[in-house]
Amino acid sequence: MSQSKQIVIVGCGRLGGMLANRLSSAGHRVVIVDQRESAFDKLSLDFTGFRLIGDAVELHILREANAEDADCLFATTTSDNTNLMVAQVAKKVFNVPRVVARVFDPTREEIYRDFGIDTISPTKLSAEAFFRVLG
Ligand code: AMP
Repeated sequence: MSQSKQIVIVGCGRLGGMLANRLSSAGHRVVIVDQRESAFDKLSLDFTGFRLIGDAVELHILREANAEDADCLFATTTSDNTNLMVAQVAKKVFNVPRVVARVFDPTREEIYRDFGIDTISPTKLSAEAFFRVLG
């Protein structure tokens, strides 16, 4: 395994939950934040990280998540606006070295990049996968 990292994941949906389980079993220290306690049902029994209930747009929640000590933050909710807000705060206020946001609208990726935020667009990735079907 590469060196153990401190990772904050925002959103314990299908994507965030899967990432949290995988990163935890790979030996990373994970804090996962969701505003709904029931979302944590997606975490496996082996998950060794911390669960934090709250709205990640609120500064004190990211502080409680220990964002200032994080190597990396993944903003994985289904809202581009939420992900952008959280990612900006992580970058500017908590100086998280690596911030990656899920962004559905590929036309907004440039805005994120201007803030030093990396993006992953499920829309683009799906389009590429569909194109590949045709060979
Ligand atoms: P999904 O729609 O399955 O990808 O799940 C997205 C997850 O993000 C849900 O569990 C939401 O409760 C969570 N979520 C959305 N907005 C916020 C927020 N501002 N703070 C924390 N969790 C959130």
